[in-house]
Amino acid sequence: MNDLESLQKYFSLAELVHPDLIRRYGSQCWTFIPKEAITMLLKVRRRWNSYLLVNYQDLKNCGLRKPNSPHSYMSAHKQGMAFDLHSNDNPRLYSMIKEHHKELGVFQLENREATNINDNDKKSGWVHCSCRGFEFRVINP
Ligand SMILES: [Zn+2]
Repeated sequence: MNDLESLQKYFSLAELVHPDLIRRYGSQCWTFIPKEAITMLLKVRRRWNSYLLVNYQDLKNCGLRKPNSPHSYMSAHKQGMAFDLHSNDNPRLYSMIKEHHKELGVFQLENREATNINDNDKKSGWVHCSCRGFEFRVINP
């Protein structure tokens, strides 16, 4: 089983790709996610060993975004190389990825805490992780 097939046991396409892209391209969207990103997600998910949510409920831009979405022009999200992960313990997820970034193939890491959202809400924060780059970089450490 290759990394893509293994990853598909953990994530559906809808969790990783904007719904408009899926409507237009269907399962071809899997090919828009670079190999390094597939492998990174698989390694992170396996090491975390618990559920990780990317897009869920009304969240649509946590994985591969549309090229014309109003986010930064060269966002790694638009290249399928960045994912915003939600877990039951984001600070611990962040620490785990930071500690093991090399073997996980993570080059950009950011722990985001949203304000004005109920602390019990899983959307109150996320861990941005990307395989794009040459040197490990923590954003807003
Ligand atoms: Zn992000």
